[in-house]
Amino acid sequence: ANERESMYLVSEFARNHFSEMLWDTELGKAIGLSYFKERGFTEDTIKKFGLGYCLDQWDGFTKAALDKGYQLKYLEKTGLTIVKQDVQNPNNDRTFDRFKGRVMFPIHSMSGRVLGFGGRILKNDKKAAKYLNSPESDIYHKSKVLYGIFFAKQAIAKEDNCYLVEGYTDVIQLYQRGIENVVSSSGTALTPEQIRLINRLTNNITVLFDGDAAGLRASVRGIDLILEQGMNVKVCTFPEGEDPDSFAKNNELEEVQQYLTENAKDFIRFKANVLANEAADDPIKRAETVRDIVHSIAKIPDAIKREIYIQECAQIMKVSEGVLFSTLAQISKKDQ
Ligand code: ATP
Ligand code: MN
Ligand code: MN
Ligand code: MN
Repeated sequence: ANERESMYLVSEFARNHFSEMLWDTELGKAIGLSYFKERGFTEDTIKKFGLGYCLDQWDGFTKAALDKGYQLKYLEKTGLTIVKQDVQNPNNDRTFDRFKGRVMFPIHSMSGRVLGFGGRILKNDKKAAKYLNSPESDIYHKSKVLYGIFFAKQAIAKEDNCYLVEGYTDVIQLYQRGIENVVSSSGTALTPEQIRLINRLTNNITVLFDGDAAGLRASVRGIDLILEQGMNVKVCTFPEGEDPDSFAKNNELEEVQQYLTENAKDFIRFKANVLANEAADDPIKRAETVRDIVHSIAKIPDAIKREIYIQECAQIMKVSEGVLFSTLAQISKKDQ
């Protein structure tokens, strides 16, 4: 437990250090702060989310932490520092800042402790990953964390709905626009633990997809997990080339709210329509898609809801309710 406490403390130090570099150094202001401002983030927002900058030096952060008495062991365990061993001479190990030259997004627990970081590259360098995250550690379990949950939790309970977006900047931009009930799984596939975190606060979730069809099919699979927990799921897509970040940046609150109300669709209905269009006049494909939608319906714990969805999907997919019910019965049997 003491080990973990030491990891929390060094992460806290790192957040403060990165934010100091952003606000109080010439390079930080010229590179990091102006980047965030160009993205449309206000100073209040940048402070609220604790955004920062890791100077473009090999080990500037690591040196600062060691100077303050933090132990290398915990810098390494949190992944903030990478240690390259020198096999010939163990006294010659070299240390590197993992997030060198990146703008920093601290990732908080439900109660507001810093667990890890996401770091975004500034140049559009094709060789390096756009986002780099802290590695899995004793304090940072990716599958159990949702970016933004600390800031969103009250609004999620109050609105009785949670918006789920793809990235850090989507969370921040929507929040700044006035839609505060928003979190992100930040690039990883949604997990049951993450859904349970939301489910402690509300039974309703609205998934907002980037307007790039690429991710859509894969993400639609993850949504069956949400149905399994008995939650109500809506989905909303954005125009080609837009994501919630760009949309919230370029539109007023009322416009964003109106867009969300008009375009958020019940997930099963949405999926049935997507599938029906995909397989329009290909009988074999239609059979597959019918099974696919029934698989989703089978995840819903409530029998009454299942029945209502069967009726609706029969119409959308132009098959009889009878065949859907018997498929459902087969699937339920197999899953036991
Ligand atoms: P930006 O607007 O800053 O370009 P984004 O949030 O719109 O970024 P996407 O490409 O839509 O980025 O990806 C969504 C999320 O997936 C990111 O916020 C990040 O958490 C994660 N991600 C994206 N690219 C990478 C990567 N190369 N490595 C790890 N995670 C990534
Ligand atoms: Mn995307
Ligand atoms: Mn995006
Ligand atoms: Mn984006």
